[in-house]
Amino acid sequence: MKDKLEALLDQALSELAQASTEEGVQELRVKYLGKKGELTSVMKGLGAFTPEERPVIGQVVNTVKGKLEEAFEVRGGEIREVVKSARLSAERIDVTLPGRRRSLGSKHPITLVTEEITSIFGALGFAVAEGPEIELDFYNFEALNLPKDHPARDMQDTFYFGESVLLRTHTSPVQIRTMLKQPPPVRIIAPGTVYRCDSDATHSPMFHQVEGLMVDKGITFGDLKGILTLFISQLFGSDIGVRLRPSFFPFTEPSAEVDIACVICRGKGCRVCKETGWLEILGAGMVDPEVYRHVGYDSELYTGFAFGMGIERIAMLKYGIADMRLLFENDLRFLKQF
Ligand SMILES: [Zn+2]
Repeated sequence: MKDKLEALLDQALSELAQASTEEGVQELRVKYLGKKGELTSVMKGLGAFTPEERPVIGQVVNTVKGKLEEAFEVRGGEIREVVKSARLSAERIDVTLPGRRRSLGSKHPITLVTEEITSIFGALGFAVAEGPEIELDFYNFEALNLPKDHPARDMQDTFYFGESVLLRTHTSPVQIRTMLKQPPPVRIIAPGTVYRCDSDATHSPMFHQVEGLMVDKGITFGDLKGILTLFISQLFGSDIGVRLRPSFFPFTEPSAEVDIACVICRGKGCRVCKETGWLEILGAGMVDPEVYRHVGYDSELYTGFAFGMGIERIAMLKYGIADMRLLFENDLRFLKQF
């Protein structure tokens, strides 16, 4: 009987050594120690022995049972360890792999140029003023010395909502709104979106302007020239040539177009400047007394100048962008260059 039990122990241990999974160990445990297991059936046969034999056999059975339980415990532990280390090595993080980049957004070139212009004029004491994009005829035209029958209205292809409501065609109505709200002195710039019924490589139905207005006692054309020259030298570099040409706007008198030396050919003449060596970048002039009349300013006491420029045009010249439509297509490959 004792030999039989030891043979059973040897067999169980050798089978256990073969087991390579936790399930395998569990099956062997059932096979040998379970309710219908081999050792249990031996114990059930104890009744066949004499009372003297029983304690001896019982002790052997208990020893074998103890050894088996320990062996199952040890083997189970070994297998769990192997499984754990396999799992850990599978989950190991390779710190040499490149990280996942989170792509950052960047500012649109129109925003960049607007901020730069705002900052230059901010340093010169100009506050930022704003107004509505849906505007009344009075602010957009009438008060700017453009009465209903004025031929200059044809220069601006306007989107109308009705007789007197429209999408503003320029940021100039902000001048009127500002002057109606406050007495002189005034020193503002008004950046914003404007709308005209026009679309090609250099025109978009929606675009951006910056308007400027300075009104005080004793403001002269010399102030206009000085401030705009300073602005241009900060935006395009101090060595850039600047010239003023006489022009016409209904709301300023006298008026001037301001040119800079071509940023592409530096004045030698090229396709962009149509061989002239100059590029027009803004319009300006002394505020027409007729405009002061509409806002109740005393034109004998106060003088001032106004100017306006297209932000898209400035951005195109500053960054060398050939087609204005690129600014509105929102192609990330284009936008990421700024
Ligand atoms: Zn040129």
